[in-house]
Amino acid sequence: MKRSWIVILLVAAFGMILTACASGTAGAQAVDEVPTLVAQTLTAVSIEALQHPSPTPTLTATPAPTATPTPEPTPTWAYNPSGKVVAPILLYHHIAETEVPNRYYVSPAQFEAQMQWLFDHGYTAIPISLLVEALTKGAELPARPVVITFDDGDLDVYTNAFPIMQRFGQVGVFYLVAAWKDAKTVVPVENIQEMVAAGWEIGSHSMTHLDLTKNHSELSREIADSRKLLKDTFQVPVNTFAYPFGMIDPPSASKVIQAGYLAGMGLGVSYTHTLYDLYYLNRLEVRSDYTLEQFIALLPWK
Ligand SMILES: [Zn+2]
Repeated sequence: MKRSWIVILLVAAFGMILTACASGTAGAQAVDEVPTLVAQTLTAVSIEALQHPSPTPTLTATPAPTATPTPEPTPTWAYNPSGKVVAPILLYHHIAETEVPNRYYVSPAQFEAQMQWLFDHGYTAIPISLLVEALTKGAELPARPVVITFDDGDLDVYTNAFPIMQRFGQVGVFYLVAAWKDAKTVVPVENIQEMVAAGWEIGSHSMTHLDLTKNHSELSREIADSRKLLKDTFQVPVNTFAYPFGMIDPPSASKVIQAGYLAGMGLGVSYTHTLYDLYYLNRLEVRSDYTLEQFIALLPWK
């Protein structure tokens, strides 16, 4: 298929513009506004579900996790043919306590309870590269795959999320804003390298966290140059791109394809991925006000 046709198809298929993903502290370009969501093809029901996941959210209902994970049998792996993958892709920003409730700050206790639940129910975190390979070519996948992603590169992901995930033997995917790599609020380069050595992957979350749909003159720098800078800095493949604020339009999707990325990461409500979604894979945001039950409701296998 011609690339231009793919872009038209993809954007038409998604037909959506989503706004979210602003952590508020990482770097000079951070935005701290209440995200809004505009979706052209999502149903009213799904928009409502995404914006208001529960009529009665609570902040402190997550029970304390048990201290030590119980051993699990090795998960069964099976061949997943190309074309479709069922695997929730979770999206987090901060894993830290915060005095003022903020949807982007999931507490370490909440996060640990969620990781414990995934572990107890046989979920295996896989790198995004494996999901993309399974979707495009076919690949062996664990029985209950999950992808655990973090946007913006915030320091507390290293200090709080990384050790918890290490304890459960799970790997994550970290979407970094390339120009922020030396900022004090983000994970230092050497610590990112430590995470990569432990099996984490990194992807680009742009150069400066601009809304790409409003900055077409910057698409090359934000999408292509950020990939090069991250590859040069970390000496690892950078094959996926997470759209800042989840915002996409045909020029930005086209540039992501042209820059050589194998997939694009967006926002959404689905854990089923097809080739039509390849450049806007749905990620399920885990908000700080979710109870464990609401977290479980995001997932395909209970
Ligand atoms: Zn972001």
